[in-house]
Amino acid sequence: MPKYDLAVVGGGIIGLAHAYVAARAGKQVVVIERNPRADGASIRNFGFITVTGQERGQSWQLARRTREVWAEIAPLAGIRVEHEGLYLTARSPESIAVIEAFLATEMGEGCRLLSPAQCRAVMPHIGGPDLAGALHSPHEIRVESRHAIPLLTRWLAEALGVTFINETVVFSAQPPRLATSRGAVEAGAVVVCPGDDYATLYPDVIAGHGLRRCRLSMLKLADPGYRLPAAVMSDLSLIRYRGYGALPQARALEAKLRAEQPRHFAGGVHLIVAQGADGGLIVGDSHHYGDLPPPFAPASAEEDILDEFTRAFGHTPPPVIERWTGVYSVPAEGETRTFLIETPEPYVRLVIVTSGTGASTSFGIAERVIADLFAGDTA
Ligand SMILES: Cc1cc2nc3c(=O)[nH]c(=O)nc-3n(C[C@H](O)[C@H](O)[C@H](O)COP(=O)(O)OP(=O)(O)OC[C@H]3O[C@@H](n4cnc5c(N)ncnc54)[C@H](O)[C@@H]3O)c2cc1C
Repeated sequence: MPKYDLAVVGGGIIGLAHAYVAARAGKQVVVIERNPRADGASIRNFGFITVTGQERGQSWQLARRTREVWAEIAPLAGIRVEHEGLYLTARSPESIAVIEAFLATEMGEGCRLLSPAQCRAVMPHIGGPDLAGALHSPHEIRVESRHAIPLLTRWLAEALGVTFINETVVFSAQPPRLATSRGAVEAGAVVVCPGDDYATLYPDVIAGHGLRRCRLSMLKLADPGYRLPAAVMSDLSLIRYRGYGALPQARALEAKLRAEQPRHFAGGVHLIVAQGADGGLIVGDSHHYGDLPPPFAPASAEEDILDEFTRAFGHTPPPVIERWTGVYSVPAEGETRTFLIETPEPYVRLVIVTSGTGASTSFGIAERVIADLFAGDTA
C-alpha cells in the first residue's frame, strides 16, 4: 500500500483546494511544493472570490460553490474575511445598460442597481461628478491572500493531517511512485497543479494546449483614511469580465471605452480595489500576454491603473506603498477556456486554471476532480 492516497504537486490555491477536498473525504494527502512556501499567483492576487461577473454557465457555477467553501473554512482556518460583496461603479448610460442586461439574467440574482444617491449613501468617498450608478452584488468574499494561503496551509496540516513537503521538486509522477529532488514519494494517485510551470511535468501535454502567460501589475496604496464597504470595480471591468462582457449590450460600451481610453485597452487595464485590515488598498491591474511577458512592467500600466482609480473614485489615489507583478496561465490566442483538466496517465490529473479566476473556482474544480479520481473507490 502506498504511504499516501493522494500526492498533490503545487502548494498554490489549486493544489490546496485538492488537498482539502481529498483530506475531507478521509484520504491521506501529501502536498509537494518547490518553494519554501507558496510564492506564485495565489499569494499575489486580490484574494477576491468573485461570483458576479464570472463567465456564464460553468465558471459562474463553480464560483458559487467555491465561495460557499471559502465561507465555511475561512473561520476554521483563522482567515479573516476582509470584505463581502462588490460595488461596480458606472460612469455612462452605456455602462448602466450592461448592468441592467446583466440583472435580467439568472446571474443577477441577489444583485441590484443603485442610483448615484444610493451609491453616495453607502460609499460617500467614491464616485466623481459623472457617477451614473453602481451594481451591487452581495456574493463576493475577499481575503488577504498573502496571509490566507499560509493560514490555509497550516490549518490543512494541523486540522486535517495533510503532510507538506516543501523545497522539493517533483520530476515525474507515475503512481505509485513520484520522483522528487528529495527521493521517492509513494502515492496511489496524483493531482498536478503547477500554475505556470509548463516545463517540469507533462510538458508535451501542456504544450499541446498552447498555453501562454499573462503578467499583471499590482499596487498597494496607503490607507485612504476611510473604509470601503466592499471591493470596488469600475466601467472597464464590464468588458473584461465575461459575465458582463459577453452580453450584446457590452459592445456599445466597449466601442465607447476603446475610443475614450485606448491606452487602458492596450494595456488590459481595469480596476479592482480591495481593502485589508491595515486599511491599505490593494489595487490593480494590467494584463500583458506572451509565452513569457517581460518582468519589466511599463510605468504606463501603473499610471493607467491610478488614472482609472481617479476617474472611478473622484479623487486622487493615496501614495503607492508596494508594487509587484504576478503571472497566471491563459489559453492559446483566440481560445477562451478558463481551466483545463487532463488525464496524462491513469490515476493522474493535471489541473491548470487558464484565467484570472483560480481563487474563485478552486474548490469547485477540486470537488469535481477528486470525485472523478476516486470514483468507484470504496475505501
Ligand atoms: C495579480 C493577480 C491577481 C489575481 N486576482 C485574482 C482574483 O482576485 N480572484 C481570482 O479568483 N483569481 C485571481 N487571480 C488568479 C489566481 O491567482 C490564479 O488562478 C491561481 O492563484 C492559480 O493557482 P495555482 O495553484 O494553479 O498556481 P500557483 O499559485 O502559481 O501555484 C503553483 C505552485 O506549484 C508549484 N510547482 C509547480 N511545479 C512544481 C513541481 N514540479 N514540483 C513542485 N512544485 C511545483 C509552484 O512552485 C507554485 O507554488 C489573480 C492572479 C494574479 C497573478
